[in-house]
Amino acid sequence: MEHPHELEAQDDGLDWMKTQGDPARIVRALNEMNPNNLIIGFGRRFATYKRAHLLFTDLERLDKLVNNPNYPVQFLFTGKAHPADGGGQGLIKRIIEISRMPQFLGKIIFLENYDMRLAKRLVSGVDIWLNTPTRPLEASGTSGEKAQMNGVLNFSVKDGWWYEGYVEGAGWALTEKRTYENQAHQDQLDAATIYTMLENEIIPLYYAKNSKGYSPEWRTTTR
Ligand SMILES: *Cc1c(COP(=O)(O)O)cnc(C)c1O
Repeated sequence: MEHPHELEAQDDGLDWMKTQGDPARIVRALNEMNPNNLIIGFGRRFATYKRAHLLFTDLERLDKLVNNPNYPVQFLFTGKAHPADGGGQGLIKRIIEISRMPQFLGKIIFLENYDMRLAKRLVSGVDIWLNTPTRPLEASGTSGEKAQMNGVLNFSVKDGWWYEGYVEGAGWALTEKRTYENQAHQDQLDAATIYTMLENEIIPLYYAKNSKGYSPEWRTTTR
């Protein structure tokens, strides 16, 4: 008899494939997968204040960012919204739609069935853990602490645990200060800041690989 965990592991892949629909799309997405790429994870409840949509503010800029042939980047998104949270459900639908666009196939990946097991794999397996909450609504952002304990670098708005946990060298932070009263303007600014930091700072550092195949400055400092 097969061990129950093996069955679950097989189900993981099948669930993901089923949601992709077109087999040609699956093959193209799988061909993009490469564990040496910079892999950025985002997994949490899709409560709207967590702004899962922020990364998708400027799709043209995101297209350039993930499809730079010298510096490939992949994003793994996962999470669940409360059944009564229409806003959160809408965000999931939108991210799945984007993940199926030709330019984002295998670059933006939405994983179904976020649970403790998938969360554990992500917070220990990705290179960066991303969190983009609306200030000051993040109570904690516990998954970021799990990532930190697994040696994963955080990139987050300084809110919740990151407000206290951030020290220089531990990862990257967006300031805790709001610039605009107007939330739509604040979202625009935060999205632009995220793209700029990824383009100018984070991605080049990840790919500053030495002859041994790793970037010596890519490491985390803790308090
Ligand atoms: C850690 C964890 C959470 C809470 O993480 P937040 O960053 O606070 O949203 C939620 N769900 C699962 C499955 C977790 O492992």
